[in-house]
Amino acid sequence: MDQNGNRKSIPFNRPFCVGKELYYIAQAVMVDSHISGDGRFTKLCHKWLEETLGTSKALLTHSCTAALEMAAILCDLGPGDEVVLPSFTFVSTANAFVLRGATPVFVDIRHDNLTIDEKLLEQALTPRTKAVVPVHYAGTACEMDEIMSIAASRGMIVIEDAAQALLSTYNGAYLGTMGSFGCLSFHETKNVISGEGGALLINDPAYVERAEIIREKGTNRCRFFRGEVDKYSWVDLGSSFLPSELIGAFLYAQLEHAEQIVKTRRAIFDRYYRQLEPLAEKELLILPIIASRRSSNGHMFYIITRSLEERTGLIRYLKEQDVSAIFHYVPLHSSPAGRKYGRVAGRMDVTDDMSDRLLRLPLYFEMTDKEVDRVVELVWDFYSSVG
Ligand SMILES: *Cc1c(COP(=O)(O)O)cnc(C)c1O
Repeated sequence: MDQNGNRKSIPFNRPFCVGKELYYIAQAVMVDSHISGDGRFTKLCHKWLEETLGTSKALLTHSCTAALEMAAILCDLGPGDEVVLPSFTFVSTANAFVLRGATPVFVDIRHDNLTIDEKLLEQALTPRTKAVVPVHYAGTACEMDEIMSIAASRGMIVIEDAAQALLSTYNGAYLGTMGSFGCLSFHETKNVISGEGGALLINDPAYVERAEIIREKGTNRCRFFRGEVDKYSWVDLGSSFLPSELIGAFLYAQLEHAEQIVKTRRAIFDRYYRQLEPLAEKELLILPIIASRRSSNGHMFYIITRSLEERTGLIRYLKEQDVSAIFHYVPLHSSPAGRKYGRVAGRMDVTDDMSDRLLRLPLYFEMTDKEVDRVVELVWDFYSSVG
């Protein structure tokens, strides 16, 4: 209740500050007098990502979309080339490659963790397949051993879409550090945020120099600033992919508390899980698999309802009580641009089914135990009414 005795609404997501975000922004403006890109705070973010995650080079971008677009340019893809990816993902995973003229080839996902089904990879490959993009949905790792070994045997580049997966691990390695490239997002709906924001992790050092050029409008300005060339010029394709220092300053303050953010979100995840488990035992709904909890970053808590109608009913019921729960992707293979620019490899049964039945419950850093408990109680109420 608020001061007026009204029930407080529970949003799906709420952006937050954890530390010195606003202080660092003031420092960038007042002390450094540097608010365009690649100032002190951007460099601190690069260092944090490189040292914490273990990658040869991290470059901040203005979004994960931008990081994916940079990766697509670095792969030298063109018309006729194919890129294999799940259909159950955000549009940017495919769009980045379509912008280069390449064709996205959609593969179905696994039932258990909703990531690309590695057993369906081989059937999707052709002599034109140049890259594969595993998407670590909900911060849960794809089957990277199998994907990496298929990619290696076929000479394909691996680009991890780790937009949701900062600090999640797979066999001890951080997600985003196993493929040639990893793409992170700091959009306000992700775990660690800067409003809009992202990073390209370059795990294969051979791509570092060209990545710096592509990010700086196709110029060798980075080498100029390091004193390696005496003037800078246009040397390659590129665009302006770097964020302002204001974003870097906000982000660095968040990165300083990244472990705490993940710990908090995992605790919320666990609280949901414990209290909803009896409903899963009664087979009224399905919960995310427990195995992934240990290595995942608590990015998302979803449930799988028994039908589309039941999901619609539950969304409506929660909304009437001022709780915002939302479904997720419209599969790319059935969306207008996906049909125009891409093709499917095999059946999309799991993708279609899951996109009808998946529902994401509210989960944000400042969510209180009481708020979690209220959502849980409403879900229980709903299921006791439908039986
Ligand atoms: C959020 C997200 C993106 C896009 O991130 P932006 O930073 O908003 O560009 C890409 N892929 C996946 C899987 C995402 O969840």
